Amino acid sequence: MTKPHLLLLGGTSEARDLAHALAQQPVRLTVSLAGKTQAPAAYPGTLRLGGFGGAEALAGWMRQQAVALLVDATHPFAAGISANAAEAAIRAGTPLLRLERPAWTAGPGDNWHLVPSLEAAISALPPNARAFLTTGSGSASVLEKRSDVTLLLRSIEPLDGLPPHVDQILARPPFSEAQERDLLQAHAITHLVSKNSGGAGRAKLDAAAALDLPVLIIDRPAPPQAGQAVPDTATALAMIANLLALDTASGPRP
Ligand code: NAP
Repeated sequence: MTKPHLLLLGGTSEARDLAHALAQQPVRLTVSLAGKTQAPAAYPGTLRLGGFGGAEALAGWMRQQAVALLVDATHPFAAGISANAAEAAIRAGTPLLRLERPAWTAGPGDNWHLVPSLEAAISALPPNARAFLTTGSGSASVLEKRSDVTLLLRSIEPLDGLPPHVDQILARPPFSEAQERDLLQAHAITHLVSKNSGGAGRAKLDAAAALDLPVLIIDRPAPPQAGQAVPDTATALAMIANLLALDTASGPRP
C-alpha cells in the first residue's frame, strides 16, 4: 500500500516534534525548511532546503510530488510562507493544516505595550534606553534609526551589517527565567522588545515582569484564512490521522 505524502513546512520546535511523531506513522514525510540556518536541527523524513519560488511553484511541486496533505508548522511571524502555503493549497486542491501555537497573554505583573511592528517598537523607546531585543534575524535594517539608544540583540547565528549602537549576543534557546533575569541585570536593560511568538520562550517575559521592566510586544501578523488550524502537536497528529484516514497500526485505510 502506498503511503500518503505529507509536506511539512517547518522551522519551529513544534514542527520538529511533529516530524518525529510522524516518523512513527504510515506516511511519506517531506520536511521543508527555508534554509536560512547554517546548522538546522535534525529532522526525520526527506529534508528539502530553500524556498519553492512562490505560491504557484509550491502548488506545482505539490502536484508533481502527489502531496496528499500540506502542514504549515512555520513560525507565527513567517507570514510570507504561510500566505504562499494557503494560496498553493487552494491552487493544488491539497488539504491544509496549520499548526498555530497560541499567542502569549499578559498576566499580573506584566507591563506590556502592544506595538504593530519592530519599527514601531524601536520608535517607542525613550532616549538613552537600553533595550534587549529577542527579535532575531531580519532586524538589522530597522535598527539604524535610533543611535540615541543602546540595543542588545540576541540571535542564534551572527547577523551582518549591525550599526555600532547594537551589541550582539549569540545563543540558542531554551533559556530559563533565572538566566534571562541575570542577562537583563548584567546589561542594565531598561526595556524588552519581543515578538508575541507564543510557545516555550516565555521566560524572558517573566524575567522582565520580575524586574518590573516594560515590554514592547510586537503583535502577530494575521494568519491566512485557509485550511484548518490546530494549537499543538498532539491535536495536529490526531487531525492528520483523520484527514489521511490513517490506520496507525497498519497504514492507510483502504
Ligand atoms: P517568510 O518571510 O514567511 O518567508 C520568506 C520566504 O522564505 C518564503 O516566501 C519562502 O520562499 C521561504 N520559506 C520560508 N519558510 C520556508 C519553509 N519552511 N520551507 C521552504 N521555504 C520557506 O519566512 P521567515 O519569517 O524569513 O522565516 C523563515 C523560516 O524561519 C520559517 O520556516 C520559519 O518557520 C522560521 N522562523 C521564523 C521566525 C520569525 O520570527 N519570522 C522565527 C523562528 C523561526 P519561496 O517564496 O521562494 O517559496
